[in-house]
Amino acid sequence: MVSYSGFRLIKEALRGHSGWKPAWRNPEPQPGYDFVIVGGGGHGLATAHYLAKVYRKSRIAVLEKGWIGGGNVGRNTTIIRSNYLLPGNEPFYELSLQLWEGLEQDLNYNAMVSQRGVMNLFHSDAQRDAARRRGNGMILHGSDAELLDTDGVRSEAPFLNFNNARFPIKGALMHRRGGTVRHDAVAWGYARSADRHGVDIIQNCEVTGFRIENNRVLGVETSRGYIGAGKIGVAVAGSSGRVMSQAGMRLPIESHVLQAFVSEGLKPVLPGVITFGAGHFYVSQSDKGGLVFGGDIDGYNTYAQRGNLPVVEDVCEGGMALMPMIGRTRLLRMWGGVMDMSMDGSPIIDRTQIDGLYFNGGWCYGGFKATPASGRVFAHLLATDTPHETATAYRFDRFEKGLMIDEKGAGAQPNLH
Ligand SMILES: Cc1cc2nc3c(=O)[nH]c(=O)nc-3n(C[C@H](O)[C@H](O)[C@H](O)COP(=O)(O)OP(=O)(O)OC[C@H]3O[C@@H](n4cnc5c(N)ncnc54)[C@H](O)[C@@H]3O)c2cc1C
Repeated sequence: MVSYSGFRLIKEALRGHSGWKPAWRNPEPQPGYDFVIVGGGGHGLATAHYLAKVYRKSRIAVLEKGWIGGGNVGRNTTIIRSNYLLPGNEPFYELSLQLWEGLEQDLNYNAMVSQRGVMNLFHSDAQRDAARRRGNGMILHGSDAELLDTDGVRSEAPFLNFNNARFPIKGALMHRRGGTVRHDAVAWGYARSADRHGVDIIQNCEVTGFRIENNRVLGVETSRGYIGAGKIGVAVAGSSGRVMSQAGMRLPIESHVLQAFVSEGLKPVLPGVITFGAGHFYVSQSDKGGLVFGGDIDGYNTYAQRGNLPVVEDVCEGGMALMPMIGRTRLLRMWGGVMDMSMDGSPIIDRTQIDGLYFNGGWCYGGFKATPASGRVFAHLLATDTPHETATAYRFDRFEKGLMIDEKGAGAQPNLH
């Protein structure tokens, strides 16, 4: 497998780019593996990468029903951040941000990690207090936070609607290490590195059932035949409910659709990620110039990867209230992805009651930023049978025991998280 470098790029340019090889192999499934990861999204591929590279495990396969990057890892709005408040969350997301910071060297892959900052606007004194509290929590956990006043926001983003009488901008919580990452490159980078460490990435291979005997999982039935497994890690995001039901489990998760939008390319205008504090609207600008934005989930249970018009209107209203100039750009594309919404808005990374079967899901619409840490801690769990120190709170039994991690304070309402 070739290494990517500036030197290599020049060499290939001089010989007509004839020397590049496929970034990963296309192996046939083996009869059995020590570890089978179900789902070739960001989380599944990252898990395989860390299992092989950090925990030195071998005989690993990732089974993907479609193609690498076709799920939510290639559909999200690319935002990464470590600006959580609760102790169950912030150390995990800070680990993730630190892994993003070294990701391209680790994978030898340009994922366009860009720490251009995340600015959460506030519009009232009460919201300022909440932002200050969150910022202090972030700093205590080793993250970065800065409180900006109105002038501070104006100097970063003068085009915002400061004079809106309904939602005046009183300032922002600025998280400068947050930013964006090119989402599908994350899947490709992890896939290439996992493959390089001996992992079989098997596409067009849908898991259709689990073979379980005496409460121990033995392998998976797939569209390409039976595959035996020592341990199985399921990381299928929006399909969590469907896949785990094949093992007889009913999860505290609902599936909802979330839409995203991108405008035609504009000259550089946005300094980083900006989120509206008076409605659900977040926006950044891609390196190609498109404004990438989104808002709330559609709010009904579905497995369809497309949304409906009322949320399109709601998102556009949020955009118009925050930055009226967005009304002059043309929408280029929009799409949807299926979210695995947990009851408290936080993920689950845990063993199941079936020996050898492990679960990673409940990411709601915040799982992209978690990709490196999710892979790292899930690999830890699979390799050692103990939770990673930053993920001890992401247990199945927290709902039974009343130990919810309700970051948003919205209660047990998945459509509100
Ligand atoms: C519009 C949108 C915007 C978002 N914005 C952000 C954001 O800005 N920041 C952020 O942090 N998060 C965001 N998210 C959430 C984030 O994208 C997801 O939480 C995260 O990508 C989920 O993990 P994944 O990458 O492993 O999922 P996926 O890429 O969906 O991977 C799961 C894989 O499992 C496969 N699979 C399913 N069933 C089977 C089966 N039976 N057998 C084999 N394989 C199977 C699927 O084909 C899929 O490829 C957004 C999501 C969407 C849709």
